[in-house]
Amino acid sequence: MHERSLVRLLLHQIIEAALKNSLAQGNCSEIRVRKVVVACGELSGVEPELVSLAFNEMRGSTDHSGVTTDQAELEIRRQPILARCIECGFEFKVEDFEFLCPTCRSTNNQVLAGEDFHLQTIDIELDNRL
Ligand SMILES: [Zn+2]
Repeated sequence: MHERSLVRLLLHQIIEAALKNSLAQGNCSEIRVRKVVVACGELSGVEPELVSLAFNEMRGSTDHSGVTTDQAELEIRRQPILARCIECGFEFKVEDFEFLCPTCRSTNNQVLAGEDFHLQTIDIELDNRL
């Protein structure tokens, strides 16, 4: 699907976050991104395998400003779908895309989580060579 543009966006977010983080920790000549954790909702329509493939192929391609991502490892955490029943207010995890309230059997519910794909954390290594 659109995994390549998603990864391109992700790499930009990673570099921005790495730069912000290194600024907070003082000057350094090189920032290496070691690990990236993203959350992938089951309703996001994103295929984790395709994101992994695209990431491994594209990492390192947008390196600039002293941030390198060519060794970055990507961890994709699947996020289950959480919904709240409109009828009785019960919050539940949706299994097998079955939007059925386990308490009152209503199908009238609102999705609370599991719809998006986003960056959670990054691990960086700062190289101070002054
Ligand atoms: Zn209910």
